[in-house]
Amino acid sequence: MSIIFQKIALIGVGLIGSSICQAVRLKNLAAHISVATRRAQTLDEARSISIADEYFLSGAEAVKDADLVILCAPVGAFEAIMKEISPHLKAGAILSDVGSVKGHVDKVVGPLVPAGVHLVPGHPMAGTEHSGPLAGFPSLFEGRWCILTPRADVARAAVDKLAAFWEALGSQVELMDACHHDLVVAITSHVPHLVAYNIVGTADDMESVSKSEVIKFSAGGFRDFTRIAASDPIMWRDVFLTNREAVLEMLGRFLEDLSVLQRAVRVGDGDALEDLFTRTREIRRSIIDAGQETDVVDFGRDHKPTPK
Ligand code: NAP
Repeated sequence: MSIIFQKIALIGVGLIGSSICQAVRLKNLAAHISVATRRAQTLDEARSISIADEYFLSGAEAVKDADLVILCAPVGAFEAIMKEISPHLKAGAILSDVGSVKGHVDKVVGPLVPAGVHLVPGHPMAGTEHSGPLAGFPSLFEGRWCILTPRADVARAAVDKLAAFWEALGSQVELMDACHHDLVVAITSHVPHLVAYNIVGTADDMESVSKSEVIKFSAGGFRDFTRIAASDPIMWRDVFLTNREAVLEMLGRFLEDLSVLQRAVRVGDGDALEDLFTRTREIRRSIIDAGQETDVVDFGRDHKPTPK
């Protein structure tokens, strides 16, 4: 593939930032990659796998002359990062991010964008429960959606260029209003994570069933929740702090439906249970048909233990 940007700079080089760097390298989408992160240890890890051309502990230095800057840190850190890098952004540059919440980006990043810089927020709908530069891999975005949420007044050429970049990384791109994005991900990602964190927490607090029994018999369904509940605590803390309204809206609906289900179990309404379980099975079928999951047992992940 051919170069889309002369220089790209990433602030944050965890799972997502590292995966972007690796895919950009592999596909030759930028002539120069510069990265910055907060801790020297993370920078050393990034350097150990040669994901960039330049490595910094200062965002201000990394973004110098960059044509594309992507914020790849937890959403809660964006405001402080912007205060540091904003005066150093090149006129004409595209500024984007990969944060899982988009209304918040508009609110905190928007006012700090200098004139002449094009803000095109983004959210690659791809990830794993692992964190850090070593968790990254170049095919992470292949066949996944990337949602871009530019405001209506942003230059179309900048949006098109960033869309072309994500398409070159292997993603399908969709444009969406930031608030609508936040509602969609509240039900498809944020509430499911909250449910997983809660169910694993409840099991951990149980007195009448021992922890060793929970672990031993986890294949009954619990194990699949633990994968989601192993996701990065800081990232997910920030998701719930910054997408509060949409999450509360969807959680309200979820709790109402859960009460209906609770009643069906209590009164032994087998028809209601069977009807719901038949509908939900269809949803999984549609996700597999849409290429967003495989039909292999255990969510398509192999059973090799994670290396220690
Ligand atoms: P990660 O693996 O934990 O990496 C986070 C990176 O951000 C690290 O380089 C970390 O640097 C840096 N960072 C953390 N706190 C910071 C702060 N206060 N100031 C500056 N830098 C800071 O996280 P990730 O999974 O790549 O997630 C990054 C972003 O992608 C998040 O906004 C998340 O919402 C979004 N996202 C994640 C997923 C997913 O499944 N993981 C999917 C889509 C989008 P140090 O290690 O040096 O502190």
